[in-house]
Amino acid sequence: SPRHEPTSKIVLDLERLYDGAAEDLASVARFARAIQQQRGDYNGRVLSIRAVDLQALAVFYDCTPTELIERLADHQVLVADPRAFFAQ
Ligand code: C2E
Ligand code: C2E
Ligand code: C2E
Repeated sequence: SPRHEPTSKIVLDLERLYDGAAEDLASVARFARAIQQQRGDYNGRVLSIRAVDLQALAVFYDCTPTELIERLADHQVLVADPRAFFAQ
């Protein structure tokens, strides 16, 4: 494939992210709000984000992208399978 696609899409559960339960992730929440604005994507319950943006966020959090993914998973703000998520 000519495109370098990530092995798995990073999909955020916006309700969990914005609920304020995870103060640790305040900067991820601020970032997600900015992305929603740039895309005009306001009504979604989830948001797919770019792999390069996750890398930049990891630099900000002074960790690796893998570690940031783990942190997001610990706070249960990652959606593993969006279609299964909506089927719930
Ligand atoms: P759009 O979704 O309306 O996004 C408009 C502009 O907002 C983008 O222009 C980009 O400058 C910024 N933006 C939106 N989402 C993100 C994001 O997740 N990260 C970053 N860093 N910036 C973001 P751009 O890049 O010229 O893209 C123009 C249009 O091309 C986008 O309009 C979208 O329709 C499409 N597009 C670009 N990359 C992707 C992609 O990876 N997946 C999809 N599905 N569409 C893409
Ligand atoms: P998927 O990627 O598994 O996403 C499933 C559903 O999650 C989407 O259903 C949508 O309701 C939600 N979702 C995922 N990411 C976002 C997001 O960033 N913003 C919002 N508002 N919702 C999101 P939907 O829209 O009916 O799409 C069904 C399937 O169609 C997607 O499954 C994907 O495979 C494909 N698709 C939709 N839009 C795009 C796109 O821009 N680029 C690509 N490559 N595929 C897309
Ligand atoms: P990626 O850059 O890691 O983006 C992952 C997902 O975030 C995209 O899945 C899409 O759901 C969302 N996304 C990223 N940027 C934007 C954006 O600007 N606007 C909107 N509305 N959604 C965005 P998707 O669409 O299945 O794309 C998978 C991969 O394909 C992307 O991974 C990227 O590597 C590549 N790609 C897709 N469209 C474009 C494009 O227009 N320009 C570039 N340079 N790459 C693209």
